[in-house]
Amino acid sequence: MNIRTSVAAAIAAALLAASVPARAQGKLYVVTTTEDLASIAREIGGDHITVDSIAKGYQDPHFVEAKPSFILKLQKADLLIAVGRDLEIGWLPPLIQQSRNSKIQVGAQGYLDASLGATILEIPTSNITRAMGDVHPLGNPHYWLDPENGKRIGKEIADKLSEFRPGDRAFFDQQLTSFTTRLDTAEKRWLAMMAPYKGTKVVTYHRSFPNFAERFGLDIIGYIEPRPGIPPTPQHTLDLINEMKRQHVKIELIEPYFDLKTPNAIARETGAIVLVMPPSVGGVKEVTDYFKLFDYDINLLIEAIKKTGAK
Ligand SMILES: [Zn+2]
Repeated sequence: MNIRTSVAAAIAAALLAASVPARAQGKLYVVTTTEDLASIAREIGGDHITVDSIAKGYQDPHFVEAKPSFILKLQKADLLIAVGRDLEIGWLPPLIQQSRNSKIQVGAQGYLDASLGATILEIPTSNITRAMGDVHPLGNPHYWLDPENGKRIGKEIADKLSEFRPGDRAFFDQQLTSFTTRLDTAEKRWLAMMAPYKGTKVVTYHRSFPNFAERFGLDIIGYIEPRPGIPPTPQHTLDLINEMKRQHVKIELIEPYFDLKTPNAIARETGAIVLVMPPSVGGVKEVTDYFKLFDYDINLLIEAIKKTGAK
């Protein structure tokens, strides 16, 4: 960089700094829709931000009951980070509106859709509408269950925080590098743990685990819900039982917020194990961060696979 460009850069930085409001000298207040995003935001923002999340990890993220306390959080937020892909469409838009916080409205600088850089599976090729009851009209929104997407989410957050605090870009970049490096190391370990069980056939209740399955080598042969967001029907359950018997499927992965009546009935018919597996940080109390989510789920899964001898 020659002197002229470095002077220009310094002036640009000074102008940017001057345009940031006085309050910006304190910590940024970040609100995330889920505990997964909160965990990743904490990794990147460190002590430069304060983070709160709205949905609890043991709740179905498609259907969260609005509470006045959520609006209070959103009123004070500098930045709102959402999973996007319509995951929160049933509950977030009214909360954003009622917060009357212009900074975090969709399209404003303080609204970040974390799916922007992520690899999204199951993008519909035909015209799917929510009127059909399908809660995944824009592809599968449970994309955080692949650590590769975790890194991409981290990058989006680092870029956004740097936009708010240009002077702290080096800090956020360093935090991102640290997060990515630790996640790479952990992912190698998780892949090695799962390698002997590659191709294990499972069914899941909702389509929460396609990214997880693709990364860690599970073969999902069916779903207890006939369509995402549509409760089980007797005919679909019967078809699923027959398919599980045909393919010798011995594991059902059930998200913590679904009724176990149908999964248990299927288990009685097929001899499969019902495994309640959290798809989110906070899904069970031991899973306090993004790393522990994979640690917990992979250990749980391997224990179950060994028990059934299934593959
Ligand atoms: Zn879903």
